[in-house]
Amino acid sequence: MPSRPQLAHLTAALDELREKGTYFKLRILDDQQAPVCHYDGRQVINLASNNYLGLANDPRLIEASIDATRKFGVGSGAVRTIAGTMRIHMDLEEKIAAFKNVEACVVFQSGFTANAGTVGSILGKDDFILSDELNHASIIDGARLSRANIKVFRHKDADHCEELLQEISDEPGKKLIITDGVFSMDGDIGPVDKLAALAEKYGAIMMVDDAHASGVLGRNGRGSVDHFGMHGHVDVQVGTLSKAIGALGGYVCGSRELIDFLYHRARPFLFSTSHPPSVAATCLKAFEILEEEPERIERLWDNTRYLQSELKGAGFNIGGIDTPATETPITPIIIGDGRKTMEFSRALFDAGILGTGIAFPTVPEGKARVRLIVTSEHTRPQLDRALETLESTASKMGIINA
Ligand SMILES: *Cc1c(COP(=O)(O)O)cnc(C)c1O
Repeated sequence: MPSRPQLAHLTAALDELREKGTYFKLRILDDQQAPVCHYDGRQVINLASNNYLGLANDPRLIEASIDATRKFGVGSGAVRTIAGTMRIHMDLEEKIAAFKNVEACVVFQSGFTANAGTVGSILGKDDFILSDELNHASIIDGARLSRANIKVFRHKDADHCEELLQEISDEPGKKLIITDGVFSMDGDIGPVDKLAALAEKYGAIMMVDDAHASGVLGRNGRGSVDHFGMHGHVDVQVGTLSKAIGALGGYVCGSRELIDFLYHRARPFLFSTSHPPSVAATCLKAFEILEEEPERIERLWDNTRYLQSELKGAGFNIGGIDTPATETPITPIIIGDGRKTMEFSRALFDAGILGTGIAFPTVPEGKARVRLIVTSEHTRPQLDRALETLESTASKMGIINA
């Protein structure tokens, strides 16, 4: 049934996107999430996934997932608090807590629900949230759900955060400072050390969202808290199981009491069914691999340095001019105009490269980009082929001077 007149405003909104040139169709992956794979029937070098360590299709994870399905079935059958807490869910939480060197961990259905469920439940309407202006949407939604007062500080600007803290120093409400560990669109690292020091000074709760730092930063991929040597100074560490870990899910690490509270109050935990056992088994295996094969992370960083220095050498704007400079495998090619960005992304695809165009509202107006992410599993010849195509396509379109 086509939409009825009640939904005419949606048609208008979509027409507006088409006019702006930022309307998109979903690209469909025909095989596995691998460095070379097929989208929409075309073979491409895939520089668009968050599968940093190649774990999404690692044979050992696939085996673990199948084994768990055979033993425990395909579904957990209930939310965690009713009847859906399986032994393997607890095993995973214990494994992550030990890995992150914290008392306890709770796993959520996704990183999104971990953030939204945690921020939304640990604060109330008389409290304050100090949030980086480029924090992830799930933090913003969680902040809104909490009904706390939201104070936004300029990107990575700890001095601005302190000014805001001083403005509310007489307020009795609790204060929460929150930052992404790695910012998902620019790839720069949040000032976890400085913000944690502020949290200490002003008695605020310190929270970090390590979605893009999990498996990427710190010893064996322990994240930004480990990267900065701030163990014991961050009250709430969020991570994802959907990116480097290769499967699906999110988690919160912290004190036993924090986790106990979330078991009782975080709404996605209480009101949405827990992971299938296969997902928990997959993630357990992934953490084993993180501990045993740090060389994967080395390869990821080698590939990152190579791709980024070649792109810079070719004259691409990969950030650091009018946008933050990347410090991680996230590699934005800043184009600016949304329409041109989408055209560049399509031309790349036609030439055999998958690099997703990202425009407003995911990034600010005028800061549209094609975002590239290499993985540990890309080979040098694949990267060289990708670089050649990126350069020839960009020079044809006047994005770089050749
Ligand atoms: C991807 C992402 C999330 C969401 O994680 P999912 O597991 O995909 O739901 C949260 N925060 C940041 C910063 C992210 O990049």
